[in-house]
Amino acid sequence: MKAIRVHQFGGPEVMKLEEVPNMQPSDGEVLVRIRAVGVNPVDTYILAGSYDPKPTLPYTPGKDAAGEVVGTGERVYITGSVTGANADHALCKSFDVHPLPKRLSFEQGAAVGVPYATAYRALFQRARAIAGETILIHGGSGGVGTAAIQLARNAGMVVIATAGTDEGIELTKKLGAQHVLNHRKPDYLNEIAKITSGRGVDVILEMLSNVNLGKDLTVLAMSGRISVIGSRGPVEINPRDAMKRDADIRGVMLGNATAADRAEIFAALGAGFENGTLTPIVGKILPLAEAAKAHEEVMKPGAHGKIVL
Ligand code: NAP
Repeated sequence: MKAIRVHQFGGPEVMKLEEVPNMQPSDGEVLVRIRAVGVNPVDTYILAGSYDPKPTLPYTPGKDAAGEVVGTGERVYITGSVTGANADHALCKSFDVHPLPKRLSFEQGAAVGVPYATAYRALFQRARAIAGETILIHGGSGGVGTAAIQLARNAGMVVIATAGTDEGIELTKKLGAQHVLNHRKPDYLNEIAKITSGRGVDVILEMLSNVNLGKDLTVLAMSGRISVIGSRGPVEINPRDAMKRDADIRGVMLGNATAADRAEIFAALGAGFENGTLTPIVGKILPLAEAAKAHEEVMKPGAHGKIVL
């Protein structure tokens, strides 16, 4: 079988497509024939060796994928594996294997794992957002943001989403965000006061906290919550902006979800995929041999849903 192998940490160029031995599942494991792989920003941090825990070298990158169970042919999406998703087969623990309804393609299945689970965890388990609240999805055009828009709209929330390109803005509108702002325009956050009649937003899902956290605190309503999902460095905040509003800054790390949290997350997501209220957005599809290119692209601005191999 073929797999992308990484023998040293580094940039996308360290990924090599190699021939590796075939695998047999042990007890509690499932062998999945991979049809599509989702590429997440975290894959690039792991590849660079800057994310703990580091994998033992050599390793095959990737957590999210979709395909068929070898032997039964059942369509599934996976949210982790023992052997890595950038391969034509992956050995998975059974708890990482979830049914993929017929209405979704394998590419859409590969776009589920990290983005949808993180969006659900940030919105419901960490921010405790409820129907009727106003949510700012700060970075609505990418993998997590597009999932979050769908989840928040389905749950009866008012969504203000941001994107940085015309294409991203169109996408977030199409997904149902009632208000869309361009985070590359100066003073775009001033619009929040107008949209909310001066009240502010109840919840912010933040994809780039090192840039936005200080400003986010100034556009929160009383008792507002910020779910810190993404951050690529330190940031200065004025604690008074939090004090004035009884505001909460809540870290989100998908890896901290307990087994019970995960059971809740995937039961809720599964219902949405089944009944048609959740539809993963795939922006770009590349061949597995171009995994390195996908790793470069996932870190570039101009997100449009997921990049899938
Ligand atoms: P993605 O698909 O690359 O999307 C990135 C998003 O951030 C896009 O919507 C992008 O918009 C937006 N963005 C760019 N500049 C921004 C700015 N100045 N203000 C607000 N948003 C901005 O990535 P993703 O998969 O959605 O992940 C988003 C972040 O969350 C990444 O940093 C990722 O590492 C992190 N993450 C964390 C967890 C966790 O467990 N904590 C889990 C998953 C992801 P444009 O491209 O349109 O400008």
